[in-house]
Amino acid sequence: MMRQYELVERVRRYNPATDEALLNRAYVYAMRAHGTQKRASGDPFFAHPLEVAAILTDLRLDDATIVAAVLHDTVEDTAATLDEISEIFSPEIGALVDGLTKLKRLDLVSKRAAQGENFRKLLLAVAADVRVLLVKLADRLHNMRTLHHMKLEKRERIAQETLDIYAPLAGRMGMQELREELEDLALRNLKPDIYTTITQRLADLATKSERLVESIERDLTAKLAAQGIKAVVTGRQKRPFSISAKMERKSVAFEQLSDIFGFRVIVESLAECYGALGVVHTTWPMVPGRYKDYISTPKQNDYRSIHTTVIGPKSQRVELQIRTAAMDEIAEYGIAAHAHYKETGGKDDIGGVHPRLATESGAYQWLRRTIELLAEGDSPEEFLEHTKLELFQDQVFCFTPKGRLIALPRGATPIDFAYAVHTDVGNTAVGAKINGRMAPLLIELVNGDEVEIARADGQSPPAAWESLVVTGKARAAIRRATRSAVRRQYAGLGRQILDRAFERAAKSLSEDKLRGALPRLARQSTEDVFAAVGRGEMFSGDVVRAVYPDHKDERRTAPPPLQQPMDGGAGRLSLAKGQAMRLTFPEGGSDVGRADAIPIRGLDNDLPVSFAPNGGAVPGDRIVGILTPGVGVTIYPIQSAALAAFDNEPARWLDVRWDVEADTNERFPARLALQSINEPGVLAQIAQVIADHDGNIDNVSMKRRTQDFTEIVIDLSVWDLKHLNAIVAELRGKRTVSKVDRVNG
Ligand code: MN
Repeated sequence: MMRQYELVERVRRYNPATDEALLNRAYVYAMRAHGTQKRASGDPFFAHPLEVAAILTDLRLDDATIVAAVLHDTVEDTAATLDEISEIFSPEIGALVDGLTKLKRLDLVSKRAAQGENFRKLLLAVAADVRVLLVKLADRLHNMRTLHHMKLEKRERIAQETLDIYAPLAGRMGMQELREELEDLALRNLKPDIYTTITQRLADLATKSERLVESIERDLTAKLAAQGIKAVVTGRQKRPFSISAKMERKSVAFEQLSDIFGFRVIVESLAECYGALGVVHTTWPMVPGRYKDYISTPKQNDYRSIHTTVIGPKSQRVELQIRTAAMDEIAEYGIAAHAHYKETGGKDDIGGVHPRLATESGAYQWLRRTIELLAEGDSPEEFLEHTKLELFQDQVFCFTPKGRLIALPRGATPIDFAYAVHTDVGNTAVGAKINGRMAPLLIELVNGDEVEIARADGQSPPAAWESLVVTGKARAAIRRATRSAVRRQYAGLGRQILDRAFERAAKSLSEDKLRGALPRLARQSTEDVFAAVGRGEMFSGDVVRAVYPDHKDERRTAPPPLQQPMDGGAGRLSLAKGQAMRLTFPEGGSDVGRADAIPIRGLDNDLPVSFAPNGGAVPGDRIVGILTPGVGVTIYPIQSAALAAFDNEPARWLDVRWDVEADTNERFPARLALQSINEPGVLAQIAQVIADHDGNIDNVSMKRRTQDFTEIVIDLSVWDLKHLNAIVAELRGKRTVSKVDRVNG
């Protein structure tokens, strides 16, 4: 295990100004925190964070990162707390350890290979500071180096995850060396036989072709110089993982591989690329079919280079990439190109560029620059102040309880989440649990939230959701669902209207018969007929006649009889003192027993219902419904003067009855007209009476009629007629109120 002074020494080698006391404090703190904990290998656990810190000293990272590496497992695995770490070390180090703790928790979530791309983004989004990712990668590297102590099953899972997520991330961050080591370690654990074979053959080959790489480098550089081309030639043996990947991709044996040795020839100009190619092809025989010119035809991701394979001096196939320094820059540093090309194993040759590539490459280039500056900058600390990760800040990443990752735009709600999981889940969502706690459906989700959606069958989403969600998928689904819910309501109403119409005509209504009449009604389905009748686009009598062409409808022109108001006034009810009680109907209203009438509950009704616009209607009123195309049913008390307007349209009249339960708290609209004496405080008195009776005033308008009297019109909402009458009676008792009328416009 690394000693305390060794850690300090490693850092001081590249950073003479290091805070030794800080490093020592971290060493002692983590050692005490981990105590006697052991790793699977039997080593003290504390050796692990030290090794992780050591890997990061190779990257010449700042003190805060090294300390965070030493402390990275303390919060999750020991009694240490973030508060304590922030206090003992610094808030900056606390924030780094916090990021690492969060990432460690994400490790517990099951991840599938298909989620690799999303998970990489999640890592980037959760790690607010690029240094958190660096520690995470070093952590993963050390775990991979010591993986052989784990059980086989766990080993395979971790190795696969490393291939899916961490190696590509390292590659994109420009840490090719780290990426290659992660890949080779993963291969060694996933396919030990293949790894051993390839390693053995590479070793044999290296012995046989001793100094081959150096001699080709030297030869080629000299030959190019002789033609006046200044070139930098670098070659190396490929790594086991990339060889294995190629063998698999091309279904070939090791011996058939042409590119065990790879050389890169970097020249100064585009013309020299072709000049160098000529030199190569005249020096060694080229392998037919291997020449590719990605300079004249760049890959979609901007990768530009000439590829060719020749038979080298020891009859070994040698692969060459020829390009300019600028092209090399793009290939090496821009995500574009290189990182992605390698990662997908050249799939882009046929499959085209990843759709996100265009927007991501900028971000990754920035990341790449950041890492480089971290490693090379004179003053890493100063630079680090500006390295807050701004990647993917427009997205949030959440999980289902089973660990499926759902990427959403920022501002997304649990409703968006539900629709992202499945349209049915969204349509039937009634509640949400976020990280195990009940939460509103309309709350903004944050990174890492685990969201569980509560559902209820037969539910349809409120139309208001449409304007509150942020994802297009949710919006479209809500629109569809509400449209079909409204249609269901109209169809339900239409079915009731038709049931009654057929009953009145003493005919039976069956779906079969109705289906037979569809051509005459010019509709596609019985459901269409119901909805059309419910919307008032088609009248019930027409449907009866379509089904029974011989039927004579003798009631056709007879609207329901208008019952005169009790005082005989023209649709107006005047109450003299003491008359108030005459308005009281028996419990349940006057329509009890009329089972064929359409039951009306209120504004929460399943039917598209509204109440008389000038005066409303309350339970206890004898009522009638007027069907208005496209609107639904408007409920009028039968004494409403407005009903006269529908005298000539009998088909629009519907028998309706109240169906309000006694204990419901729903209120209904009514209007009163008062005449009061002009006196200060009158309005307040009137309002007080209504308030005392628990009535709700919705609107008040006043008009001075004469010097002495003012007319006041009050819209209020009450539970029923009894409630309204009690208010009217009390108002009538006020000295300042000379007259109270119920208004039924
Ligand atoms: Mn660790």
